[in-house]
Amino acid sequence: MKIVVLKFGGTSVGSIKRIKKISDIIKQYKKKYKVIVLSSAMSGVTNELVKKSKQISKNFSDAEYDALVSAGEQMSCSLIAGQLIERGQKARSWLAWQIPIITDGKHKFARINQIKKKNILNYLKIGGIPIVAGFQGINYQNRITTIGRGGTDASAIMFAKFFNAEKCIIYTDVEGVYTTDPNKLKSAKKIKEISYEEMLEMASLGAKVMQPHSIQDARLNRIDIEVKSSFKNKSGTLITKRKNIINNKIITGISSTQNDAKITLLGVKDKPGIAASIFKPLSENSINVDMVVQNISANGKETDLTFTIKSDDLNKAKKTIIENKKINFKSLLIDKNVSKISIIGVGMVTTPGVTYKMFQALAEKKINIQVISTSEIKISVLINKKNIRKAIKALHKEFKLDK
Ligand code: ADP
Ligand code: ASP
Ligand code: MG
Repeated sequence: MKIVVLKFGGTSVGSIKRIKKISDIIKQYKKKYKVIVLSSAMSGVTNELVKKSKQISKNFSDAEYDALVSAGEQMSCSLIAGQLIERGQKARSWLAWQIPIITDGKHKFARINQIKKKNILNYLKIGGIPIVAGFQGINYQNRITTIGRGGTDASAIMFAKFFNAEKCIIYTDVEGVYTTDPNKLKSAKKIKEISYEEMLEMASLGAKVMQPHSIQDARLNRIDIEVKSSFKNKSGTLITKRKNIINNKIITGISSTQNDAKITLLGVKDKPGIAASIFKPLSENSINVDMVVQNISANGKETDLTFTIKSDDLNKAKKTIIENKKINFKSLLIDKNVSKISIIGVGMVTTPGVTYKMFQALAEKKINIQVISTSEIKISVLINKKNIRKAIKALHKEFKLDK
């Protein structure tokens, strides 16, 4: 049985008109394949549900959050199925508990570990098109879980894995993965092929087009992903093994984030173990620390420590630091007007001078670098939020990504 998995994101199912359009795409594939559809909620619906939970409580129960925010997918899936039935196809909606899709881990951030195949296989065998709700699963207590915002990408990859699909196609509102967000920079270019490693960095560093976990799952299971537009019938981007790619660019793409916050502790007593005493309670409270700089103390007694976290964690982090009896510091500064800009490319491993070129390009635009972090295939810098567009434009030009 030749199976194809098609995933449609929020904008692709964002209106009745769009749902009619994607039903054409589904029908087209049905001629050659058994089709499994994964759908997101209509655009804006999940955000609305999240907003409602916040209106009830800042500490809205995680289990109820999952039951609430997964509801959007039920609507879009039944609308798609209804439209296909209207056009003479055999189709039905499937929610996670009806399959079931089993997840591990905490509410809000669960991960799919198993998909029971029997029900869907039987349905495919009788010629049906299952329209499966993305983003959701159930846990071993039979409670509804969700797998992180943008999670339908990961749902699609896991379906491709469990059903051994020939193709996994992510339909979205842009034509593929671009050198940088095409909605932020007009000269961004569509990338024909990109490695899992680079896509994972780009996604983790802010390229919303693919959810990071989905790329980890695809890489682990060697699943090729096509990303393309549900609006235009054009070739998209292939996400695949590094070995399959002939790429002569040093830098493949640029990503940026909008939701970082910078914390600085001034006048921290400088003694061994101090960084650990600051970061341990943060990690115990599930606060992820990203970029870190510690200044060399001029007098050998005190130092300043700067690090970044997600803005959503700011209040929790502030409370944790203030209540931490193990550390002494003079003052705590917070800056929410920061953005992390990253350049990503496997080519930088073998090319000297990339860091210098990046810093020089930013300096020429008078953009101040606040914090730096690097890995083998990326360099990230923290800058003032107001300079994001200017920085992306300068770096895009510097690394000839518009060529
Ligand atoms: P969907 O609803 O289909 O899942 P998303 O909104 O999650 O779509 O992702 C698509 C969006 O990702 C695009 O509209 C674009 O603004 C954004 N984006 C960010 N970085 C990139 C990039 N490098 N290439 C393509 N799109 C990007
Ligand atoms: N509807 C969910 C969200 O908005 C999942 C998804 O779109 O993939 O995050
Ligand atoms: Mg998405």
